[in-house]
Amino acid sequence: MINGKQYIARINALKPNVWFRGERITSKLSEHVAFKGLLRSQAKLYDLQCDPDYQELFSWPSDTTGHAIGTTYLAPKTPADLEKRRKAIQEWAKLSLGMLGRSPDYMNTTIMALGTSADILKEDAPQRAENMRNYYEYVRENDLSLTHTFILPQVNRSQFYLEDQDAPVIAARVIDENSHGIIVHGARLLATQGVTTDELLVFPSGARLPQMKTAEPMAYAFAIPTNTEGVTYYCRDSFVGGDSHYDHPLSSRFEEMDTIVVFDHVLVPWERVFLYGSITANNRLYPESGFFSQTTHVVISKNIVKIESLLGIMKQMIQSINISEYQHIHEKVSEVVVGLEVMKGLIYASEKEAQLNRWGILTPNANPLQAGILYYTKLYPRMIEIIKLIGASGLVSIPTESDFQSQAGTDLRHYLQSSTQNGEEKVRLFRLAWDVSLSAFGGRQELYERFFFGDPVRLASQLFRSYETSDLEARITAFLHDKA
Ligand SMILES: Cc1cc2nc3c(=O)[nH]c(=O)nc-3n(C[C@H](O)[C@H](O)[C@H](O)COP(=O)(O)OP(=O)(O)OC[C@H]3O[C@@H](n4cnc5c(N)ncnc54)[C@H](O)[C@@H]3O)c2cc1C
Repeated sequence: MINGKQYIARINALKPNVWFRGERITSKLSEHVAFKGLLRSQAKLYDLQCDPDYQELFSWPSDTTGHAIGTTYLAPKTPADLEKRRKAIQEWAKLSLGMLGRSPDYMNTTIMALGTSADILKEDAPQRAENMRNYYEYVRENDLSLTHTFILPQVNRSQFYLEDQDAPVIAARVIDENSHGIIVHGARLLATQGVTTDELLVFPSGARLPQMKTAEPMAYAFAIPTNTEGVTYYCRDSFVGGDSHYDHPLSSRFEEMDTIVVFDHVLVPWERVFLYGSITANNRLYPESGFFSQTTHVVISKNIVKIESLLGIMKQMIQSINISEYQHIHEKVSEVVVGLEVMKGLIYASEKEAQLNRWGILTPNANPLQAGILYYTKLYPRMIEIIKLIGASGLVSIPTESDFQSQAGTDLRHYLQSSTQNGEEKVRLFRLAWDVSLSAFGGRQELYERFFFGDPVRLASQLFRSYETSDLEARITAFLHDKA
């Protein structure tokens, strides 16, 4: 396991080809305006996992070396393992109030699910399965952090659109191979934390590919170091509002950059290729690997902490301006409490109904987790709406730290006071509420929670198709024909 200092040193040493506001970044990422807050926050996660008081929770003896490795790589085999994973994920999430969607636990779990079910890739070639297993071990034993790109550029989403194989490439595909590996060219979206991780994982989108020759170049999966020759990361604009934790309590700490990844004739060595050309393996990968269950288990665990954080913010706002006597406030807060309890129930149900998969990995039941993922895409925007309805003008009556430190401070402390706080403390709280609900950072968080696990419309279709109802239908048929 690494600590925060080691994590930052490793990221600084990579020096990937990353572009931000029209320029290539050449400075250390840990000193760059767009990344320094995030790196510091993420370093705290690594420090916590190395804290002697937390070893029971955050470490686990490696199967291969016996060394302590991080719990979030743990392949669960017992209910206690699943519980330990959940608690470790939530302890990490508390440090960011749940705002780090792509803290390392997410991809550590992804690689655990894919690594333990690597046999599926034998369908492609036995070596690919071996590569996947080796990679899981390599990442786990070195405590590497990963980003990922699973989707293709948003050019034309018509169901019948297939990129013309003779036109210049847009969506990344394998354009060649040689004795060293495959050559990948084109773009992929959307690597959140694109350059603040050690490695980049490129996997299929999860959509089924048609059994057609033209689909084969899209059936590929691999992992490469973030700074691989030929890979460029284009950042969106930064949503870091500034360095001050008072002014920008969330964006100064937790702004996870999203990057567009462009591959320019990138050589991926054969030992890092996990899938290449097998449409059958591509289509079996996610449904059979336990990927969905294990990653959604991380997400729901984290989102429980995020709901708790929003609830805490709401309750403090209500106390501050003394609106707890109004029934509509009770109703709104209760809505959030119901959401929290539903999500807790769903995660416990998924653990209680977990089953060992064919590789002996305890896999949480996917149904409650899928329900939680879909439910949250509606709950999160509603919670943000509730914060706005509670905060009203308080969300924009928010002068900055420097205003309070200036001559204006006396007036502002007086005129912006609330029933329980002086102006400076009230604004501290309401700036947090603003950062989560109205700032560019908050807007992205809302978009993230709607889409990060896929388009909710297509996720709903997936649930519609996969949810087993034959028993229920049979019960209705029996009832309809009951003559007694
Ligand atoms: C903040 C943020 C961070 C993200 N981070 C990552 C990341 O780290 N790694 C990663 O790989 N991805 C990431 N994603 C991408 C995420 O997986 C996608 O946003 C999601 O899968 C939806 O795809 P899309 O954005 O291309 O939307 P589109 O597929 O382009 O959808 C756009 C609209 O068209 C509709 N639509 C399109 N096709 C269909 C269809 N077949 N049937 C019905 N409706 C359709 C959708 O419902 C939607 O309304 C991130 C997204 C966001 C917003």
